[in-house]
Amino acid sequence: MNILITGGAGFIGSHLAELHLNNGDNVLAVDDLSTGSRSNIEPLLDDGDFRFEVSNLLDWPELEDAVADADRIYHLAAVVGMFRVLDEPVEVMRVNVGGTETLLEAVVRMGVSPEILIASSSSVYGAGKHLNEEAELVFVPEQGGLTGYALSKLANEIQAIAYAREHGLSVAVPRIFNTVGPRQAGSYGFVLPRFVRQAIEGIPLTVFGDGSQTRSFCDVRDTVEALEMLAGNRATSGRPVNVGNAREISILNLAQLVIERSESPSTIDFVPFEEAYGEKFRTIEQRRPDTERLEETTRFHPRWTLEQTIDDLIEREMATSFKQEARA
Ligand code: UDP
Repeated sequence: MNILITGGAGFIGSHLAELHLNNGDNVLAVDDLSTGSRSNIEPLLDDGDFRFEVSNLLDWPELEDAVADADRIYHLAAVVGMFRVLDEPVEVMRVNVGGTETLLEAVVRMGVSPEILIASSSSVYGAGKHLNEEAELVFVPEQGGLTGYALSKLANEIQAIAYAREHGLSVAVPRIFNTVGPRQAGSYGFVLPRFVRQAIEGIPLTVFGDGSQTRSFCDVRDTVEALEMLAGNRATSGRPVNVGNAREISILNLAQLVIERSESPSTIDFVPFEEAYGEKFRTIEQRRPDTERLEETTRFHPRWTLEQTIDDLIEREMATSFKQEARA
């Protein structure tokens, strides 16, 4: 199969590229390297079935050809990460909504009908408590950038469903929950790579707020399997599906778990949300996926426990810091 991945040098995109190369497919990845990085795909560049283009979707001259050649398209390119989302609210709408429109328009213009997956996010649940795909959605207007991101992802779902209906396309719409694993960058605010690095450096772990907020983390190597199962899945075309791991942990317990598993002398610093994110901020208290629809429609079962992911990340972080020390 010919696979096109937008955001293909990103955290999830690079794992998806790897999965499809292992399946024997051809992969074309496009990425503007805004949050993605060349190092994420460096090991794939030697593979003759892999091609990489640096471009933003909004002005990619090859878009139409790439779309016409694709049997399947994963659209993951987006402004992501809490720090970026809060710093660049205009770019969030321009790239997330505009990029999706540009891609879907190109598919229609070329008269092709590849299997399409448009990445949505658990953020569409806003301040909602019942995270089931049928639930009503609740947004808090004064949450500024955060609501902008959530609405951009909800717009992506509506765009996907609209194009599926009007043009008879197969479109998967996964609502991706917190995802963790190798190659996730801490610099955009994602919690686990930050905690792991802090623990290895022996500096305090920065828990934002009082740490009572909970999240459910899914290893990226599980997430990409779920995405592969959903792309082209007739039962869920045009219907959002939660993608995540239902195990729930508070952020304070996550910090303690990282310290324990790395045997780190680090302590914990509680950082007020206002200081962490630079604006008035009401945190999302809980984000645990209801995975019934995912389980009913696919064979998905997460294979990585949170402890295994943390141990893997600790090992990788230690190897990196050891290499850096040897070079210094
Ligand atoms: N968080 C934290 N310390 C950090 C980075 C994040 O306590 O150094 C918290 C953050 O406030 C949130 C949770 O960890 O409650 C998950 O954050 P992330 O940005 O990874 O995902 P999201 O907020 O989208 O769930």
